Amino acid sequence: MVIHQNFIGGNISVKEIDGDTVILENELRDTTGDWFYWAFCVEGAENRTLTFRFQPSRLGYFGPAVSYDLENWHWLHHVEGDSFTYTFCAEESKVYFAHSMLYHPSRFMNFADKHHLQVEELCKGYKGSSIPCIKFGEGNTSIILTARHHACESTGNYVLEGVLEELLADPIPDATVFCVPFVDFEGVIRGDQGKNRAPHDQNRDYATEKEAIYPECNAIKEYAEAHGCHYGFDFHAPWHKGGQNDTVFIVQNRIEQLDLLNKFGSLLEKTISADSLKYEHKNDYPPETGWNIPNAQFANYMATRAENVVAFTLETTYFGTPDNEVSIDKLIELGRCFAKTFKKYNETEQPL
Ligand SMILES: [Zn+2]
Repeated sequence: MVIHQNFIGGNISVKEIDGDTVILENELRDTTGDWFYWAFCVEGAENRTLTFRFQPSRLGYFGPAVSYDLENWHWLHHVEGDSFTYTFCAEESKVYFAHSMLYHPSRFMNFADKHHLQVEELCKGYKGSSIPCIKFGEGNTSIILTARHHACESTGNYVLEGVLEELLADPIPDATVFCVPFVDFEGVIRGDQGKNRAPHDQNRDYATEKEAIYPECNAIKEYAEAHGCHYGFDFHAPWHKGGQNDTVFIVQNRIEQLDLLNKFGSLLEKTISADSLKYEHKNDYPPETGWNIPNAQFANYMATRAENVVAFTLETTYFGTPDNEVSIDKLIELGRCFAKTFKKYNETEQPL
């Protein structure tokens, strides 16, 4: 049997194997403080029943996300405290387990192919990789969409995919959409936490008065300089779980835009369909409270630009709750509902 992290998004350290019990820890790498992301692959465990044990606060409500191909994911729906037990059947020669449902970059490439979108290079990343971006539509309204400023936050990619699908199916007139689906692509492929990197992470790299330390963030700032950013939406996942982290919420970053943010939230709640992950406006995070202090985030940088109408972060839970459980289909539908809301909002509230 082999337990390894040799795949896109892999992150695990095997501490001990004691009979059928495997003691695991996730790798924090350059993250300061604690974080919870992990993903590993088990090969050659056919017909065995193994218990995997973690440090505290590593497993979600429904146990690990399970996959055979890194593309389709389901919850194990079994968890006991900081452990889960899995029985590998005779055909299961290779099984992936992860903190949450990973979003493989090849899924985005396939999405782009299907929609005849050309994937271009934004820039070389901070470790030399080619950072993908796409652009579609032509017009005076500039829309910038991003995800994975924090490498581990894969739910944001599924929501973003739904947003793109809807904007492609029913485009906004006179608008150009620019999208960087994996801002910390380097971290996504290596399976980094990404959050709270030292000395700061990608979503603290948008200071107006100085150069970013990550070339990806500089390239996005340069795009906004050249084309403007009337609307900027950044798709994230919150902390591991509990309370507000189990919901979908808008981070209301600018007190000056509070009316607009409240209108957007009310409209989004009304637009959510039965097939979507649920969203309630009351869960939105009010400005200048708790951790929600304007900082050098993407959304804050865009929101303070002169031409900007609104820019914010949407946080989407990793797991949800038993009555509102995360699935790939529900995340994508949430994205479609988000885009429909944005179109209504653009038509009724702030015509450009
Ligand atoms: Zn984040």
